[in-house]
Amino acid sequence: MVRETKYYDILGVSTTATDVEIKKAYRKTALKYHPDKNPSEEASEKFKEATTAYEILSDSEKRSVYDQFGQDGLSNGGAGAGAGGFGGFGDDIFSQFFGGAGGSGRPRGPQRGRDIRHDISVTLEELYKGKTSKLALNKQILCKTCEGRGGAKDAVKKCSSCNGQGVKFVTRQMGPMIQRFQAECEVCQGTGDIIDPKGRCKTCNGKKIANERKILQVQIEPGMRDGQKIVYKGEADQAPDIIPGDVVFVINAKPHKHFKRNGDDLIYEAEIDLLTAIAGGEFALEHVSGDWLKVAIVPGEVISPSMKKVIDGKGMPIPKYGGYGNLIINFTVKFPANHFTTEENLKKLEDILPARNPLPTIPKDAVVDDCVLSEFDPSKYANNRSGRGGQSYDSDDEDQQQGEGVQCASQ
Ligand SMILES: [Zn+2]
Ligand SMILES: [Zn+2]
Repeated sequence: MVRETKYYDILGVSTTATDVEIKKAYRKTALKYHPDKNPSEEASEKFKEATTAYEILSDSEKRSVYDQFGQDGLSNGGAGAGAGGFGGFGDDIFSQFFGGAGGSGRPRGPQRGRDIRHDISVTLEELYKGKTSKLALNKQILCKTCEGRGGAKDAVKKCSSCNGQGVKFVTRQMGPMIQRFQAECEVCQGTGDIIDPKGRCKTCNGKKIANERKILQVQIEPGMRDGQKIVYKGEADQAPDIIPGDVVFVINAKPHKHFKRNGDDLIYEAEIDLLTAIAGGEFALEHVSGDWLKVAIVPGEVISPSMKKVIDGKGMPIPKYGGYGNLIINFTVKFPANHFTTEENLKKLEDILPARNPLPTIPKDAVVDDCVLSEFDPSKYANNRSGRGGQSYDSDDEDQQQGEGVQCASQ
């Protein structure tokens, strides 16, 4: 609903014109009436008008105010008309309670409606490739039949009791104090206008609003991040004399089974066997792009446990700038099982591997305990939370034993 069309008329565009159309129209008008080209008084006036119109219509916030409240809405204090109708007057009683003879503490001008926030759950694969989600939005709109007036044009009159404010100031004496507070106008029930029953809109029954189901196509760009917002300006609920809030979609990235994300980089935990780690070989992984990566470990490279390596350009797409982040590989080396450790094999290893680390020098007079290792059972160590793989250790009070893993015998 557009109340005035003056600024649109100046630029010669329709009230539904896009930003691009408005820009084009302004450029055309400005060129035509520019003082350099057209020195007449009239042209100079038109040039000024066009510039003002463009300033308003090219700013989405100002345009939205203009569409709803006309020129009055733009000049500060001019659009108090509907301000009283929302937010309830309870707050005002407080703010006005000891207020002097001054005016309302509430800001004048149209109020802004609430934003609608909606989380979109997205997988890492979807964030890599991008995705279009269609989402249905049930929202309140201004009644289309009466354009949010509540009735035919000549049937809606400004409430004379509150002068269209929807609220009135009430003065009450309480002991030595005079209170002055705002209360909803009882004549118009806070709406600020009176609708003649004969001309009342039959579609909304004078309520001015209706419900609408709208499908929004939400474009998730490749490389978007957890928590990032996609904003549809002014798409939230409409109501008379308010500027609709925004519909805000918030990206909620689901955790991935194999990959973690750090900015534009991906992190992958690769487990390789000891032979590959020492003697080279290859491993493969399924990337979030859907492709498989076959990775060579060059013989002689020697990967030690928890070593990190990088594959360039195999991270997430970088929005705006283009290109890709990197893929960081965190290595885990899987050691062979016990049955490998035959006496014969161990002899071979002694021949091949670097010699054992010598013990530190133990002082001659120190007491030395000879110890053996036993199996570690994580469930018995409530305070040990460093375990991998997301196991949760319940901290039961009964499991307070310490040092069970090592048994020692005094020498
Ligand atoms: Zn209606
Ligand atoms: Zn009233």
